[in-house]
Amino acid sequence: AAQTMEQLVSLCKRRGFIFPGSAVYGGLQGTYDYGPLGVELKNNLKLAWWRANVWEREDMEGIDAAILMNKLTWRYSGHEETFVDPMVDCKNCKMRWRADQISGKCPNCASTELTEPRPFNLMFKTQIGPVPDPESFSYLRPETAQGIFVNFKHVLDSTSRKLPFGIAQIGKAFRNEITPRNFIFRVREFEQMEIEFFVRPGEDEGWHKKWVEDRINWWLSVGLSRENLQPYHQKPEELAHYAKATVDLLYRFPHGLEELEGIANRTDYDLGSHSKDQGSLGLKARVSPNSHSTDKLSYFDPETKQHVVPFVIEPSAGVDRGVLALLSEAYAEEQVKPAPAERLKPVEEALGTFLKSVGRNEKIPAQAKEALIAEGERIAQALGERLPSIAGLLSMPGAESIEVAKKLRGQVDPVVDEFYRTVLHFKPHLAPIKVAVLPLKKNHPEIVSTAKSIRRKLQSTGAMRIVYDDTGAIGKLYRRQDEIGTPFCITVDFDTLGEGKDAALKDTVTVRHRDSMAQERVAISELETYLREKMQ
Ligand code: ATP
Repeated sequence: AAQTMEQLVSLCKRRGFIFPGSAVYGGLQGTYDYGPLGVELKNNLKLAWWRANVWEREDMEGIDAAILMNKLTWRYSGHEETFVDPMVDCKNCKMRWRADQISGKCPNCASTELTEPRPFNLMFKTQIGPVPDPESFSYLRPETAQGIFVNFKHVLDSTSRKLPFGIAQIGKAFRNEITPRNFIFRVREFEQMEIEFFVRPGEDEGWHKKWVEDRINWWLSVGLSRENLQPYHQKPEELAHYAKATVDLLYRFPHGLEELEGIANRTDYDLGSHSKDQGSLGLKARVSPNSHSTDKLSYFDPETKQHVVPFVIEPSAGVDRGVLALLSEAYAEEQVKPAPAERLKPVEEALGTFLKSVGRNEKIPAQAKEALIAEGERIAQALGERLPSIAGLLSMPGAESIEVAKKLRGQVDPVVDEFYRTVLHFKPHLAPIKVAVLPLKKNHPEIVSTAKSIRRKLQSTGAMRIVYDDTGAIGKLYRRQDEIGTPFCITVDFDTLGEGKDAALKDTVTVRHRDSMAQERVAISELETYLREKMQ
């Protein structure tokens, strides 16, 4: 797994997973753009979730509701009043912080002179329509859940579902976070994968427990390890006002153990809140009186012949936090063979010179300097294992302004190329690219055309992304595919053409496995079946 966020940020930018948003204009805090590999990884994660939670279950329907909703939704959901974080200002440097994320001290200037916390609403307000009338506004949704609640009756009526059943949705959500940070962990625009699972009151506790187990098992199925995943039962005083119980699934991210998904028992609060004639519904939750709703969001139980408002179990996961967890879990820097001491020595010296030079530099801001030196010293302490991390170190803020950085890079690169590899051990179904087809020689027309035709044929089977790559020597190409998590490389060589020593190898290719680096010969005609089996 990754040791630091820098390793991931650097790899993501270098190889095209994730870029800082609006970079040509100096960026926009709290936004990130997914690049060519990032979009594939994210789509694969969402597809795996949809498959497990919608297609493979018999009690679920999917929807895709609008991001913009009538603003009354956010009044009756409680968001206008209570979707707030406590904000404090530093009286010294004027920075703003979320009070519960700092411990009485400004993280920027260390001053303890802070204002009293005051509530800050996280919803983005936006004008609707061409006339800037003070009433014609709405909010960008801060969660996808409300789109499900207001469609409860539509889905029920159009599908004739019986309780218990659920509605699933994946989509964008927006929160004006006071301090976005930790890469894609806390951002202002993100995606959620949410389920609202409707059950009979009284059956809610059993279903809540079951959903917690289901969700843990699903995260394990996409490759997270059990020791990095921890359920946390919220204490009564931590619960949101609508929740009877909430279990957070925490993941050990590079910056610490933090929430990846929340699974709440929301009782009949949401359907009750959005209903008319609330007094007739026998609600268990305390809701605000609703004078605008045009419908009762209840269910007619054919067994008891009574109308009930279902209780709701809500497993709500962040897509971006999921992507970050997958990257972090999959990341490894591995020694392919031990580097001899005489090859490490010059790197060690160049790293020492670099760190001294950082320490002396007056132009690097204090925070950046501290981060650079801390990471540099961590690497130096275990240089044998951590050598590839120097690439991440050199892409941290401030590093590029150091003169001796180039020299350090010049020392590191050849050693890394020879003795190390960075690899993403994704489960095959999540890997952005499943197979890379490589020609042993890029200026040999027959090898190239055979490789290209294998790629086309495999790609035409539809289910996976397959690329052709001839931008380097074969060893380098393997390393590049390891670094982006491609589980299989296929190499076309002279044996494939029947021009090698062993004529029996004609029409076969080398298949190289990412994790074990083992290679085997497979007939071209068998490739499709072979890969399909390995991809399961
Ligand atoms: P936190 O306490 O970390 O702010 P939360 O408890 O407010 O999160 P929920 O309202 O439960 O989060 O949202 C459900 C999920 O949506 C979270 O588990 C998380 O994965 C994701 N999420 C929430 N806020 C953000 C954000 N600002 N950036 C990225 N993902 C987010």
